[in-house]
Amino acid sequence: MTKLCVPIMVESTEQALADAQAAQAAGAELVELRLDRFTDDREAAAKLVDSCPLPTIVTIRPDWEGGEYDGEDASRIALIEYLGTSCTGPAYFDVELAAYDRSANLRQKINLVVDHEQQPRPTDTGLILSSHDFATRPADLLRRVKAMAEHQGCRVVKLAWAARSLRDNLEAFEIIRDRHKPTIALCMGEFGLMSRILAKKFGALLTFASIDTSQGTAPGQPTIAELKSLYRWDALNADTQLFGVIGDPVGHSMSPAIHNAGFDAIDYNGVYLPMRIPAEYEHFKATVSSFLAEQHLHFQGASITIPHKHNLLRFVGEMQGEIEPLAAKIGAANTLTARDDGSLYASNTDYAAALDSVCDVMGIEREALAGKRVAVLGAGGAARAVVAGYTAYGAEVTIYNRTRDKAQTLAEEFGAQADTIGAAQSAQFDILINCTPIGMHPNEDATPYDFTSNPPPATSAPPVAFDTIYNPVETKLLREAKAVGCVTVSGVEMFVRQAAAQFELWTGESAPSDRFREVVLDRLRQPDDA
Ligand code: NAP
Repeated sequence: MTKLCVPIMVESTEQALADAQAAQAAGAELVELRLDRFTDDREAAAKLVDSCPLPTIVTIRPDWEGGEYDGEDASRIALIEYLGTSCTGPAYFDVELAAYDRSANLRQKINLVVDHEQQPRPTDTGLILSSHDFATRPADLLRRVKAMAEHQGCRVVKLAWAARSLRDNLEAFEIIRDRHKPTIALCMGEFGLMSRILAKKFGALLTFASIDTSQGTAPGQPTIAELKSLYRWDALNADTQLFGVIGDPVGHSMSPAIHNAGFDAIDYNGVYLPMRIPAEYEHFKATVSSFLAEQHLHFQGASITIPHKHNLLRFVGEMQGEIEPLAAKIGAANTLTARDDGSLYASNTDYAAALDSVCDVMGIEREALAGKRVAVLGAGGAARAVVAGYTAYGAEVTIYNRTRDKAQTLAEEFGAQADTIGAAQSAQFDILINCTPIGMHPNEDATPYDFTSNPPPATSAPPVAFDTIYNPVETKLLREAKAVGCVTVSGVEMFVRQAAAQFELWTGESAPSDRFREVVLDRLRQPDDA
């Protein structure tokens, strides 16, 4: 079973022990004691290893391999020898392949204190041979894997390199799957998060996680709390189905929190990860194709966001998949589903979410939108999905936009009317939908329509006001609309519903929408994540 290991940069025995206790309390099963800066007091180091509440990996990483130890090899090896003979011993020593390969003398000394076939002295301590590249994938990566595995003294093979794209993770998984000895293969940086989480799915010996965000020892290392509560660490296994949000950027997306909470809620064996793919179609195609081709990954679908919504249509078209007709007409899809028969489906859950959010508060079916007067503010991507959806059900849509020409072009495409955004103020409508960012955090004092000075006439039913903005949950537009008697719908509703529709496409089960809503509202209460 893949273990959770917390690296601890040792400054003092007190701090290291406190960190080890915190790691244990957070759920770690192993700690890596990084003695890079703590090589002078060997008795204290031995005592630390002995009194640690969890099994330890002892590492003294030299600066030439990305660590902080700048002394001679001879001194650090002397410390390893001392620790290997004078205390109960760590579970592992981690030594760089480069150092081990370079010096027969070093090899001999290390081999004296680790377990291997020719070791006469009983010891449980194993040797991790490691290789790190913080800049790129080393050209001789596979040679290094082979060299480590062939060393008799090596119990564990460890590779870590900076991922250049998401595809590097696939090579890490292949190395773990092809292992002859217990293996750790991790990609560093934003692109490498997947290798750290799915290490468990592929049976790596361990993955590294920090106690908090300030304590990681390698770029891209998640915290234990993220692994366990956000990325479902305890539930992951070889059969876990993989989903994600594909876009650029994706770092602040709320979708991983929503979908993973959904998998938890219905006990579905899935995990949902952020997947950053640079904007160009070739990147999208190469990455998604390779994910789909790797059968052990079980990649079943993704939410697709900016800038890939059109790329998804092109890709699924080229792969002879099915495209939802309205998604094709909108020219954007936000959901990729890999079906059980291997075929692909591209669809758009935004327009349906925008329709149903409003129909529900009106207590009507989509068909009853026919003839309703709908004022759409804005003519960008969100407006396009909204206009497509409402005109498809026969609503009389007028698009009001700052740039009138854009409104006109969009209106002509979908059989709607167009005007400038100011003209909305004197318009009559049954439903008003804001698809501009006016009023969005942090500009919460702005509104694209003034309900206060233009309240609906008392003689007719007040219109429904729907703001696609979800941060803040209640915009100034909605607050003022409510004050003059309108029924209001927040962008949270659209966001939750588009995610719920994706979840249902992927899992075939009904989405725990209340749980989704709870997660979104909770995340929106944390300003940095909004
Ligand atoms: P977009 O493609 O950039 O379009 C923005 C639109 O707003 C354009 O029509 C633009 O007019 C107009 N606009 C921008 N700033 C303006 C200003 N200061 N004054 C007047 N008009 C302005 O953006 P989008 O992707 O459509 O997103 C728009 C909004 O939809 C965002 O606020 C987002 O929160 C929301 N949204 C919500 C969801 C959800 O699930 N709830 C999903 C998607 C989007 P010009 O044409 O003149 O530039």
